[in-house]
Amino acid sequence: MTQTALLSKKLDVYAIRKLFPILNREVKGRPLIYLDNAATSQKPQSVIDALVNYYTGYNANIHRGIHTLAEEATAAFEATRDLVKEFIHASSREEIVFTRGTTEGINLVASTWGRKNVKAGDEIIISTMEHHSNIVPWQILCEEKGAILKVIPISDEGELLLDEYEKLISPKTRLVSIMHVSNALGTVNPVKKMIEVARKAGALVLVDGAQSVVHLDIDVQEMDCDFFVFSAHKLYGPTGTGVLYGKRKLLESMPVFQAGGEMIKEVTFEKTWYNDLPYKYEAGTPNIADTIAFKTALDFINNTGKEKIRKHEDELLSYASIQLEKVPGLKIIGKAKEKIGVISFVVEHIHPQDIGILLDNRGIAVRTGHHCAQPLMKRFGISGTTRASLAVYNTKEEIDELIYGLQKAIKMLS
Ligand code: PLP
Repeated sequence: MTQTALLSKKLDVYAIRKLFPILNREVKGRPLIYLDNAATSQKPQSVIDALVNYYTGYNANIHRGIHTLAEEATAAFEATRDLVKEFIHASSREEIVFTRGTTEGINLVASTWGRKNVKAGDEIIISTMEHHSNIVPWQILCEEKGAILKVIPISDEGELLLDEYEKLISPKTRLVSIMHVSNALGTVNPVKKMIEVARKAGALVLVDGAQSVVHLDIDVQEMDCDFFVFSAHKLYGPTGTGVLYGKRKLLESMPVFQAGGEMIKEVTFEKTWYNDLPYKYEAGTPNIADTIAFKTALDFINNTGKEKIRKHEDELLSYASIQLEKVPGLKIIGKAKEKIGVISFVVEHIHPQDIGILLDNRGIAVRTGHHCAQPLMKRFGISGTTRASLAVYNTKEEIDELIYGLQKAIKMLS
């Protein structure tokens, strides 16, 4: 990208697109239109290069090596931790634990903090719109401990009913585990306000940032969450790596997650002394290559500018919403006032999968189905939706193609 493009106020989407090689490919003989970014985003060349450079230049296991390659790999791996700390405004690098992704982050908290602190009769609060990965770990924990899972209801617009949330909160509440942004509706939840409410009851809060961290500025200290989890692959980074942020005192007090190399200070057959943060939670060889390349993805976002990205995506979202509303028989699911990045919709008498297949025939990638949120689909009385989700490289012309393709598909299927 040229320096002028970087400095201009408006995002130069065509310059950005040149950074993503996959956007040059064709699908079914047409240019790819990738609108499945909430599932995983595409990767800029710089991220792909970082992976290749690691394997061709300094592939080595990290931390305990004294040779040059091990030192270079360790420095690059730890540089990602430093940048993640800045990216989400954590107070120290020790609060940044690398995981496989959002799912592992939530499971880590459930099986360490949860096993130690949740007892029979305690309550955990989640919401109707949660992703399965923020439902099932808590269900398992509650079953094991005899605790109770409570669920915040939502409105027909797809917003949390905050009055109901306040009613659910009690001295028995141990944890509120809530998504920041809905992957199926795009709703932005008022997590800061919700954390203030939870605090009054002495409850902790985990924020699932899988869909928010790529669109919104995240300041975990200002938000005052206890845990914040996300995956690199939805942030233009590689798959298989992600982050658990936890307040230092909490991470220090929690039992270990997996056991093995790296998470220890000293091992004898009688006793093991565990490592300091964050390594206490990073047993075994981590995903070195992908974590190193993740830094390049964060550099890409920082260099582009989150505010510019957000403005671009907001413009696309409102344009797409207006155009979709005009399609006869189409209903948008999720009309929250605060919404980003995602539009879900259903079309009268047509199965979402049929729409997905016909759009794919035109090179348009959307997701269809329940989006790992079956209880949410049940709340709306549907089996699934068609979902278009946006990223920095999407254009207005692509939205026009989506609408055109959709109209054609509906004509064929009606
Ligand atoms: N939470 C939300 C809100 C998501 O959108 C997703 C993935 O779509 C996840 C959790 C799970 O993320 P991962 O599969 O990267 O662990």
